[in-house]
Amino acid sequence: MKTWKKFAHIDAKSIDEAASILRAGKAAVISGGTDLLGTMRFEILPAYPDVVVNLKTIPEMDYIREEGGVLKIGALTRLEDIAKSDLVRKKYAALAEGAHRTATPHIREMGTIAGNICQLNRCWYFRIPDNRFNCIRKGGKTCFAMAGDNRYHSIFGAVKMCLAVNPSDTAPALVALNARIKTNKRLIEAENFWDMTIPGSTVLAADEIVTEIQVPAPAANTRSAFIKFAIRKSIDFPIVNCAAMIGNGDARICLNAVYNKPYRAVKAEEVIKGKSVDESIADAAGAAAVASARALPGDRNKWKIQIAKTMVKRTILACA
Ligand SMILES: Cc1cc2nc3c(=O)[nH]c(=O)nc-3n(C[C@H](O)[C@H](O)[C@H](O)COP(=O)(O)OP(=O)(O)OC[C@H]3O[C@@H](n4cnc5c(N)ncnc54)[C@H](O)[C@@H]3O)c2cc1C
Repeated sequence: MKTWKKFAHIDAKSIDEAASILRAGKAAVISGGTDLLGTMRFEILPAYPDVVVNLKTIPEMDYIREEGGVLKIGALTRLEDIAKSDLVRKKYAALAEGAHRTATPHIREMGTIAGNICQLNRCWYFRIPDNRFNCIRKGGKTCFAMAGDNRYHSIFGAVKMCLAVNPSDTAPALVALNARIKTNKRLIEAENFWDMTIPGSTVLAADEIVTEIQVPAPAANTRSAFIKFAIRKSIDFPIVNCAAMIGNGDARICLNAVYNKPYRAVKAEEVIKGKSVDESIADAAGAAAVASARALPGDRNKWKIQIAKTMVKRTILACA
């Protein structure tokens, strides 16, 4: 019979208290718990936190408001509240739709925006229960996806030989909308929030906690959109998703689930800049977005390249 590991659970009263518990080591913060508790229950990782620090007991971490031309969302705001917010839907449509397309109503009622951007990457070798594959991401020497079943893996290469993809549905919207992530230590551009030295991590220090998401109000005549392709319509992680903000001859476009971190489609943005968008421009931008994409040996994930191209095209047209 399986012996369940034990852990302490502390209700933090302030960010400072939570950070000091993190500093002591072997601790993890918990928000909605929809990702963290799964990784712990199934013992996906080699190390297991001794302490789980609950952030939900800290007051005033759950809000959506506009201040001085900036949308401010508390880190503990639930995805369902973001998806349903009239303010977010009207002015920051890509974010509202990204939140709305995440998982199921149940998970969106539990899951928070901070947890969504901090969730661990997806790869079935990495996430298999009982830490059965000691892969690169866990400090091992092999990426099992490289020679194995990699149909859902990166089309833009590996980071430190890891081919897992970032599955967040809100992250590409935050990058496209030029958002910043506020922590107890600093303000980080959304685009720079994911670490390229440790595959599938954020740049957060061990005692750093996301406290707020800030999104500058889009300029007049700008529109944003988010589109997700998943196998199932009901509940499913993205095979590819895409968010874009377009207007005044400028564009920001971000794909996700195609690489270790959200992938800004700079080449597609260049195609659009200074032009008014029509079907052929959107088509050319889609092609440019995946010009440097490569299927993995065996071509099992080649289909994702075509999907990414189409997602970029459709998202651009949805902004037009
Ligand atoms: C069945 C299922 C389907 C899912 N489908 C999708 C999907 O379609 N799209 C998608 O994007 N996601 C999906 N998810 C992933 C995830 O549950 C959600 O993204 C959710 O938003 C995570 O938020 P949470 O508050 O529950 O995070 P938690 O589980 O509480 O935390 C996740 C991670 O973030 C860290 N963390 C949490 N809050 C903070 C903070 N304030 N500062 C620093 N670190 C923090 C935790 O330590 C942990 O490592 C799915 C999950 C499940 C179980």
